[in-house]
Amino acid sequence: MSAPKDRMKLAAELVSKGAALLAEPCPLDGGIQVRYRGKVYCTVHDDLSSIAKTTMVSFDTVVAQLREVLLTKLNEAATKLGAEKDGAKQDELVSLMTKYFELLQKLPQK
Ligand SMILES: [Zn+2]
Repeated sequence: MSAPKDRMKLAAELVSKGAALLAEPCPLDGGIQVRYRGKVYCTVHDDLSSIAKTTMVSFDTVVAQLREVLLTKLNEAATKLGAEKDGAKQDELVSLMTKYFELLQKLPQK
């Protein structure tokens, strides 16, 4: 279990991510409760550190995966474009590549 000071820090971190502090204390131990993503957590007996960590890790993971997928698709489309003779299909590929590229640029930079 983490120290009470750390727990309050984690509760504040969750609030900054959109969690709401509840007026009602925990029925088990009277601890402060927060509602986060539709679930109620107690700042005393629930492990807030894993909740805060999980959200951060999964966001980074998604961004990293998305970047990889987009780069692969962009590369595939570029290869197809190089071999494509049909004007309409070239146009389709270019607009597809533009979308991949725009999305790539919107991803958070490391
Ligand atoms: Zn509790």
